Amino acid sequence: MKLYSTNNKNISISFKEAVMKGIADDGGLFMPFNLPKLGKDFFNKLENLEFNELAFEISKHLLGDEIPAEDLEKIINSAMNFDSPLVSLNANLGILELFHGPTLAFKDFGARFMANMMSYVNRESKKEITILVATSGDTGSAVANGFYKVDGIKVVLLYPSNKVSKIQEQQLTTLGHNVTALEVEGTFDDCQRLVKQAFPDKDLAGKMMLSSANSINIGRLLPQSFYYFRAYAQTKDKSLPLIISVPSGNFGNLTAGLFAKEMGLPVKKYIAATNTNDVFPKYLETGKYEAKPSIKTLSNAMDVGNPSNFARIQALYENDYAIIKENIYGESFSDEETREAIREVHDKFGYMIDPHGAVGYLALQRYLGKNKIEKYNGVILETAHPAKFADVVSGIINKEIELPDRLAGCMKKEKHSVKISSEYGKLKKFLLETANNN
Ligand SMILES: *Cc1c(COP(=O)(O)O)cnc(C)c1O
Repeated sequence: MKLYSTNNKNISISFKEAVMKGIADDGGLFMPFNLPKLGKDFFNKLENLEFNELAFEISKHLLGDEIPAEDLEKIINSAMNFDSPLVSLNANLGILELFHGPTLAFKDFGARFMANMMSYVNRESKKEITILVATSGDTGSAVANGFYKVDGIKVVLLYPSNKVSKIQEQQLTTLGHNVTALEVEGTFDDCQRLVKQAFPDKDLAGKMMLSSANSINIGRLLPQSFYYFRAYAQTKDKSLPLIISVPSGNFGNLTAGLFAKEMGLPVKKYIAATNTNDVFPKYLETGKYEAKPSIKTLSNAMDVGNPSNFARIQALYENDYAIIKENIYGESFSDEETREAIREVHDKFGYMIDPHGAVGYLALQRYLGKNKIEKYNGVILETAHPAKFADVVSGIINKEIELPDRLAGCMKKEKHSVKISSEYGKLKKFLLETANNN
């Protein structure tokens, strides 16, 4: 696979290089020149494939020119060891549960694939990679879990002391092994500033290989296209139009869906479902893209005022507004509507949905209402387990939500963190000391 930068189509680099670089030198995002269509053979056997088998077939198709099949198979089997079941609400509607990974959110798919890929690419180098991540909670735990016990990689997480939830803190601080949590006396912005200062620091570069595992890494995006195929595989009547609603913030998830369509997945429409951070639906409505400061909402993982993957969507459709509108429909919803939807999904279908999935549900209903489609396969991506937002969801449906075992376990473990002040010198000292210990 060859990729270009969204800032410069004359650049061409390999997938392995793009994964290690994260972002192009010109600040652009890496995009594949070409996403070849999967063949009839693949679609004929799709229904019978397990998630990892399906993921392997697609990766071979995309990356077979760079990575031998037996290596790819190992990477996939180690990264993709959980499924994305499609749970039926009724004959037309299904919820694609993307929370069966270790941190109960869809980011596990991308983080684990990227981690295993980086370890593979770096395997012959003598130098260990140190992944430096600033987190306000969820992304950090998905990344840390993705790299947990992965060879040749160390993770240093920075999180703001007393500013993440108890569950989040337990997830960040109880892994151990190759993961160290730095508890910063400051804000999330301080954590981000520290990380940004470390990357260009020449003293550090001489001692260690720092990398960012950023959310815009193509190694996180590509594997997210796999579960769209898995959703389709689980639909019963494949002759019906497929409509997929994607709760969106930075639009990585939706972009991965568009990739799947390029590869031949028969999707009639993608729905970009947002909370009041509605830059993208507004763009679809007016043709104008206007970034805004983000607004805090119930579906907080989607509180994004300037979605980073907009550049990729534009690049994919060569800036053609009409084609973007043909592929994607967009709607935004308030917290009040989100609460109402959580109640409705519970009362009507007996299903507990989280605030992000609820926004997806609303957008799909709006689209169906406007378009009077009677028979269809409607798929709502459920991006996180409702237990992660139990404080909101329990109150609405008047029910306790049990934390799945894989998270409940970490609540009992002992917290290990290293406290540092928000001065850059303190982070640098810590990093140099750990580098010298190798
Ligand atoms: C990250 C996240 C989103 C938003 O996904 P994007 O790819 O940024 O659009 C939605 N829901 C949950 C639970 C998330 O963690």
